[in-house]
Amino acid sequence: MSESKHLPIYRHKAELIQAVKNSNFLVVTGETGSGKTTQLPQYLYQAGICKDGKIGITQPRRVAAITVAQRVAQEMQCTLGREVGYQVRFDDCTTQDTVVKYMTDGCLLREILADSLLSQYRVVILDEVHERSLSTDILLGLLKKIFSDPAKATSGRSVPLKVVVMSATLDTDKLSAFLGDCPVFAIPGRTFPVTCTFGSAVGPKDIESTNYVKEVVKVALNVHTTEMAGDILVFLTGQSEIEQACDLLYEKAESIDYRYDVYDQTVEGLLILPLYGSMPTDQQRQIFQPAPPRIRKCVVATNIAATSLTINGIKYIVDSGFVKQLNHNSRVGMDILEVVPISKSEAQQRAGRAGRTSAGKCFRIYTKEFWEKKMPEFTVPEIQRTSLTSVVLTLKCLGIHDVIRFPYLDCPEERFILEALKQLYQFDAIDRRGRVTQLGELMVELPLPPGLARAVLKAASLGCQDLLLPVAAMLSVENIFIRPGHPNKQKEADIKHRALATRSGSMNDFATLLTVFQACKSSDRPSGWCKDNWIHWRALKSAFAVETQLQEIVAHLQRKRDFPVETFDGQKNELFRRCLCAGYFTNVARRSVGKAFCTMDGHGSIVQIHPSSSLFDQEAELNWVLFHDVLVTSRVYIRTVCPIQYEWVKDLLPKLHEVDVYELSSVARK
Ligand code: ADP
Ligand code: MG
Repeated sequence: MSESKHLPIYRHKAELIQAVKNSNFLVVTGETGSGKTTQLPQYLYQAGICKDGKIGITQPRRVAAITVAQRVAQEMQCTLGREVGYQVRFDDCTTQDTVVKYMTDGCLLREILADSLLSQYRVVILDEVHERSLSTDILLGLLKKIFSDPAKATSGRSVPLKVVVMSATLDTDKLSAFLGDCPVFAIPGRTFPVTCTFGSAVGPKDIESTNYVKEVVKVALNVHTTEMAGDILVFLTGQSEIEQACDLLYEKAESIDYRYDVYDQTVEGLLILPLYGSMPTDQQRQIFQPAPPRIRKCVVATNIAATSLTINGIKYIVDSGFVKQLNHNSRVGMDILEVVPISKSEAQQRAGRAGRTSAGKCFRIYTKEFWEKKMPEFTVPEIQRTSLTSVVLTLKCLGIHDVIRFPYLDCPEERFILEALKQLYQFDAIDRRGRVTQLGELMVELPLPPGLARAVLKAASLGCQDLLLPVAAMLSVENIFIRPGHPNKQKEADIKHRALATRSGSMNDFATLLTVFQACKSSDRPSGWCKDNWIHWRALKSAFAVETQLQEIVAHLQRKRDFPVETFDGQKNELFRRCLCAGYFTNVARRSVGKAFCTMDGHGSIVQIHPSSSLFDQEAELNWVLFHDVLVTSRVYIRTVCPIQYEWVKDLLPKLHEVDVYELSSVARK
């Protein structure tokens, strides 16, 4: 019997196919690991549904979309990209033959922009809906709005679209009610008890400390040397922490003497495996392979292992209690990626990973008091805590003008919607009446944050996109500068990075990105060049691919009849920075005293240049700067900084105060 026949979903195959056939909307729920993501699309494919169109399955995380597609292609014994494929931002692995398509929720949103009836699809499966990602929430509302009216169900389509909504948690009544009381199919699962214990390392006062990495390592090693056979899954928040923890684990695990230390004599070694979003996929595949005999596997992962990917054989969980989350920071008026305590429901989800095949144990490194005082009951949906600028522009481009009364599963606060409208107005993407402008129509075509899209379009209209597209690409991939933890190596890397900054002529972090891109691209030994300069070759390789795709999109936009054309005669260096101003005038700061700058966006936050910038320590020579993003610790730092002249933003800055949100609130409903 093949592996997949052991999965809980298998016994319900026929009923599930029938349930999808019987109703246009269906909610499917089942424990993580029951087989929803990998099996249901295959069942529908086998049932012949694809003769009328594709099956599209969305995932909130790009790694999940890629990994799952690989797995399903393997199970269906086809080459990835043929019958089974995936599409994520800047990486399309599908062909004409693809009928089972895994993709990120953001990609499906873009497809709706191009074809709101989704005519190519027979079934759309929104997966991992319990994660409540921004794009999934918007898709839920859109699919409800476009397809739930039975009178219009086939509107323009030959057959109605089937919508399946999958969730790991049992709060399905709300989903079903939202989708017009559609049927719910619950896959019964078995789970085994998981004993949870609290630790003493992280208390309510330790929110800012990062000592939890060391503590997690200590606890994991303790599990390894005292507990019976069974794999360990450790939850941390991101790549650098995970690498740090893995290094510590390697170091400590080497000195274990298995003759004396190990309680369970069947374990004689530890296999340490990191798992995070930007990891190469071939390395990710290792995670799923069983460890060799007598070896215990220890996976050190981000939240991706909580529900998106299921690893078999896990018996022990070590939970740090933290997660990296994008939150709107009202102090600086921007979205910031920050480390925060997880919610109680998230902690339960993490613990549950230990009880899939037998009873398990979960070791929480935080105290009971931390749980009670610092951890919220539930995670706030992304739509209620991040910037809505891109989403509101998408809705407006789809002809949905009343963005306040859009069917949201959970409504965002009205002020967040108004803030988004204000930003769109500042970027000239909508007019005073709230209608999308020609520029707005162009901006929505670029898979970039609105400010960066605006800068790229400015460059394109001036015919100098070759300066901006590499920068946009570099800002769209993971960090490209290697920052070794070791102090001596750090010094070496700093010297190389400084040299690259100087090479760009003017001290300007955006120009440095451009220099790195061009220098590496023209090198005949690009990977060696990266190694010499402490640059992540993998990140740069993705940046090359992203830039090519952005080139194609821009070329396509430029062929449009009314694409704006402007001229500029002046230095290239000034031209470059003026294009940046067009997109980043919302992120302009003026030096006040000493090293401090004051932002000009109305928040008037006091900020400082981050030490990673080539302009750090040159503050005395600067008056006006613009920046890409901020890092909030006890201070607010600006990162990726460029010096500018006041004249270049003089006409743009008033736009930041020109329209108040109340004026826009009337257009929000139109
Ligand atoms: P669900 O979506 O209900 O959480 P999945 O369909 O993701 O469940 O997982 C079903 C099973 O397939 C799990 O046992 C999981 O470990 C296994 N699986 C998923 N992806 C892979 C992979 N890439 N390699 C090996 N096993 C996998
Ligand atoms: Mg799943």
